[in-house]
Amino acid sequence: MRPDGRFAPSPTGVLHLGNLRTALLAWLFARAQGARFLVRVEDLDRGRSRPEHEARQLADLAAIGLDWDGDVVRQSERAGLYDDALARLEGAGLLYPCWCTRAEIREAAGAPHGDLPEGAYPGTCLRLTGAERAAREAAGRPPALRVRAGSERVAFRDRLHGDQDGVVDDFVVRRNDGAIAYNLAVVVDDGAQGVGEVVRGDDLLSSTPRQLWLARELGLAQPAHAHVPLVLGEDGARLAKRHGAVTLADRAALGEDPAAVRARLAHSVGLADEGEQPSPEELVARFDPSTFRPPGSGPLPGL
Ligand code: GLU
Repeated sequence: MRPDGRFAPSPTGVLHLGNLRTALLAWLFARAQGARFLVRVEDLDRGRSRPEHEARQLADLAAIGLDWDGDVVRQSERAGLYDDALARLEGAGLLYPCWCTRAEIREAAGAPHGDLPEGAYPGTCLRLTGAERAAREAAGRPPALRVRAGSERVAFRDRLHGDQDGVVDDFVVRRNDGAIAYNLAVVVDDGAQGVGEVVRGDDLLSSTPRQLWLARELGLAQPAHAHVPLVLGEDGARLAKRHGAVTLADRAALGEDPAAVRARLAHSVGLADEGEQPSPEELVARFDPSTFRPPGSGPLPGL
């Protein structure tokens, strides 16, 4: 499969330097392999997504020198694709309704359940008797939809993290408010868009077994993966506003232009020397996806 790549931001705020570094790396992985690079706006969270955040995010990506192929795709415009995928799973007998509240899941997930990792859904609603199910249906609270994954262990190889595996629990694919869950949307879109290599932050490493399971059950090609390190604040927490000048606008206010930010990001993963400002094309020329070994997650030097 061609290693077409993508960056898939959620338009819920301004991209910070960590997001921009992930985008730069996703772009480099694709471009250095002569592949397409796509941008997909993951705006399924209707409450928090804003068109002005989207516009700003796209402008910031362009400002650091990234380009993309074709039109930007928005998940809010693709409900039909997600519904088709749900119908397919339903047809294969792989969905079931779940009425559990968060508190119930927390309580049940605390107890050991065979092979399932901590916090995994223990399958409570799969085991309801006919009467219990009828009572929940009659009560009228809409259910979420979960997949019946049967605690399967799914293995994969990540370019940067090596051999990985995880047990897939019965995760939610449609929430009880009708919203399509991230895992379903991302798999359907990566499949439909022909994404061959998923490059994203390593906070999503543990989602990958679920997504590969879903891709397989939906008959979609399975992409390769490279989970890249996150930028952290000095306190070791994920980068956030409180860590100071962490957006392109913040850096501009300090006199650091987008080319200097790109250089800073490239330097932090060993792709540029201190003080050097390589162009995007120079970075593509020096980027080798098969030997790239970034340092682990940590603060940006000198920020
Ligand atoms: N939309 C997700 C985020 O902003 C990224 C999803 C992905 O790359 O799979 O964290």
